[in-house]
Amino acid sequence: MSYVGPDFDPPQPRRGRRRVLTVGLAALVPGALLGWVMYEAVGGDGGGSGNAAVQPSQAPSDETPTDSTTSDDKPPGPTPTTDSTSAPAGSGSGSGSLDGKVVVIDPGHNPNNFRHTSEINRKVNIGTNWKECDTTGTSTNDGYSEAEFTLDVAHRMRTLLEKQGATVKFTQDGDRSWGPCVDERAEIGNKAHADAVVSIHADGAGSGQRGFHVILPGKVDEGAANTGAIVAPSRALGERVAGSFVRVTGDAPSNYIGGGTGLVTRKDLGGLNLSTVPKVFIECGNMRDSKDAAQLTSGAWRQKAAQGISEGIVSFLVK
Ligand code: ZN
Repeated sequence: MSYVGPDFDPPQPRRGRRRVLTVGLAALVPGALLGWVMYEAVGGDGGGSGNAAVQPSQAPSDETPTDSTTSDDKPPGPTPTTDSTSAPAGSGSGSGSLDGKVVVIDPGHNPNNFRHTSEINRKVNIGTNWKECDTTGTSTNDGYSEAEFTLDVAHRMRTLLEKQGATVKFTQDGDRSWGPCVDERAEIGNKAHADAVVSIHADGAGSGQRGFHVILPGKVDEGAANTGAIVAPSRALGERVAGSFVRVTGDAPSNYIGGGTGLVTRKDLGGLNLSTVPKVFIECGNMRDSKDAAQLTSGAWRQKAAQGISEGIVSFLVK
């Protein structure tokens, strides 16, 4: 579930580069191109993403990934870029391409938060504002909770990333009665000197709002928040994650936020504002839309989601 209060950084189209990459991808990986082209089509001139693909994408579906509490924020998202240097997570290469790298996975919310409303409602300072320590998250109409979803995807990602040699740390693993608070979630990544942090979520938007989006930190310098050093690398990370997510799941980016790019920049999230290491959030879909919910509740789909996110991380880290 996302939070209110996006920021509105202008999009940064990179059309020239995209055109060149399109040719390269067409020549090298038709399978991957399928997913990428779909992303392009949905994204309009927002720019596509997609790393050099290592694995053919699924046949594109007609779905647009989603996320929704943020539906009133519609900043034009930046353009994902492509890169041909990506390496797949869980490719079976066993090459240890992430040896020495630290990845922190932040499974959004906590399955027990709803039992601890006073604790999670306590306000914490996020530099630019005071916000609730944490929230309960959303759920599907049938009661599959976002917190269960985020932990499941996180576990799948851990398996994939550890196969690549990464050291993987969690902000919580269902082992705490509530939280942690958003400021502590950021601190965990900072103290781990993480090379990349991804916070896993699913949205709670309206029916018909579909698709995923990746949330990037905006530039803030206020109080304890200073994202100047992480804006650029976080954008690079987010672009890789969005591109790989499209390619592996075959899904299109959100149809209700991000202008079709699957990327949104925000300055109101403590988990991003307080991070000193490259970090993004991903809202994997809209739990309140029946078609998205059918995917989110499928273990096979969650495996693809985990693979897409993980491959994006690998692509970002292996340069
Ligand atoms: Zn959430």
